[in-house]
Amino acid sequence: MRFIILFGPPGIGKGTIGKVLSEKWNYPIISTGDVLRENVKKGTPAGLKAEFFMKKGELVPDELVFETLCERIKKERSTEGILIDGFPRNIKQAHMLDGIFANNDRIILMNFISSDDVLIERLSLRRICKNCGAIYHLKNIPPKKNGRCDVCDGELIQRNDDRPEVIARRLEIFRNETRPLLDYYSKKHRVITVDANGSLEEIIKRIEEIDLWE
Ligand code: AMP
Repeated sequence: MRFIILFGPPGIGKGTIGKVLSEKWNYPIISTGDVLRENVKKGTPAGLKAEFFMKKGELVPDELVFETLCERIKKERSTEGILIDGFPRNIKQAHMLDGIFANNDRIILMNFISSDDVLIERLSLRRICKNCGAIYHLKNIPPKKNGRCDVCDGELIQRNDDRPEVIARRLEIFRNETRPLLDYYSKKHRVITVDANGSLEEIIKRIEEIDLWE
């Protein structure tokens, strides 16, 4: 099976880009952030625990996230490929994920890069649907109807971890704990770096020009 790990700082557009790739290639996408937010919304025991960390921009304990991720992966194992968004976030998670790959699985880490200004702008103008989680950007991907989701007409809200003080903490964690994984992945798996500046169409075009599974 093929695994594509979407990797990059918060706000770079992994969720938005992942959704387009998922539809194009017919690969399901598993976003640990989305799975955790669903759990928070439903008030499950995992959600209650996760919320405490998420609202501060801190990482949720590794085991809790890994368990929810594995449950989803098991369900999708029959497909040709899977996109993973938001995992791994530190070296322990990278080891955990390596532990579930089979010998004939093929793994790519898609490393998205952009300038810091682009990240801050994308994070502060991001809105998500309270009901279905669809992602919008007030300027670049605006909803058709002000404040409502195009898909389900749910209310659009700002994630409570997209506030400036929490954003700063999330970016700091990315720099200190997550970005160093690039070194680990370069040694063990294939790493492909994608310029994530510019429009969504431009980014997708750049990805389509790459011979991923050469
Ligand atoms: P995201 O939607 O990927 O920006 O994730 C939102 C929040 O969920 C993060 O700031 C963390 O609190 C939590 N989270 C998501 N994925 C992970 C992970 N792999 N490990 C720990 N916490 C995570």
